Amino acid sequence: MERSAVVIGSLNMDIAVTVERLPAEGETLQGVGLVEAPGGKGANQAAAIGKLQTPVRMIGKVGADRNGAALLQSLEASGVDTDAVLTSSGQPTGVALVTVDRAGRNHIVVVPGANGELTKDDIDSRADIIEQCDMIVLQLEVPLETVAYALRKAKALGKTTVLNPAPARKLDDELLQFVDFLIPNEHELQTIAELDQIDEQSIERAARLFGEKGVGALIVTMGERGCCYADRSKIKAYPARKVNAVDTTAAGDSFIGGFVAGYLASRDADTAIRQAQIAAAITVTRHGAQSSLPTRQEVEALWQ
Ligand code: ATP
Repeated sequence: MERSAVVIGSLNMDIAVTVERLPAEGETLQGVGLVEAPGGKGANQAAAIGKLQTPVRMIGKVGADRNGAALLQSLEASGVDTDAVLTSSGQPTGVALVTVDRAGRNHIVVVPGANGELTKDDIDSRADIIEQCDMIVLQLEVPLETVAYALRKAKALGKTTVLNPAPARKLDDELLQFVDFLIPNEHELQTIAELDQIDEQSIERAARLFGEKGVGALIVTMGERGCCYADRSKIKAYPARKVNAVDTTAAGDSFIGGFVAGYLASRDADTAIRQAQIAAAITVTRHGAQSSLPTRQEVEALWQ
């Protein structure tokens, strides 16, 4: 049977509007180009895996509303099985309200809604789904205690675990011991490892420190500089592919999707990272979040 992944995380509707300049306190401005687009790190990463034609199921929570229905429909269109997504009776679907000015500066307000209600009991109610998969992928946009619980459960069942610690927050050792692949970007690594700066030495030190706490490997994404893999015994830098980047939204989510799909197929982190870099490089050449994620054919066309 083909190996599969489960993503446990957030689903948000991103509601974005463009303004000439960001409003000052108490000011009312007119905006243009209101756009609604499916998002949420969990949903984006599930979509990234699904578009690469790797079997993937999503566990998360939406509200009983129009946004929730639209998010599920969008995930299904990307090849994600959404049968295990729960519906909240009291909370609306998560929303990210984004205001962007002409120079690309933004204000973002996230209303977690149903995402904030994903509980340990919800994870228990989906135990069979976790049991059937090979790899579990989590981020930090749902309650931390639920993330910790799901990681522990997945590890007890012998699954490979991936944690994208975004948005960044300090993580305790209790949780880190259940992480096989910890994949932050540079800013997230600075927060979780309490580093002043990111360079090869500090990444190496962080990997050793995390390794002692039970983390299998650290993979730091560094935007146009590519990424760096480090575990307790080795470190390897991967330069990014040279592309004409127009919008880096969802680059990190696309990287995770490519990594998970590549790792499930090869069981090899090096192969998986190379696939992740191709997927993410394609994503930055296009606008949007889920709409910019590549298909399997597009990634294969660049694979040598
Ligand atoms: P985002 O929050 O925008 O989704 P991120 O900060 O989580 O992104 P980054 O570290 O910026 O993630 O990028 C993830 C990966 O995307 C990089 O490791 C790299 O492979 C690819 N990437 C990002 N920017 C570029 C670029 N300009 N050119 C080529 N590849 C890129």
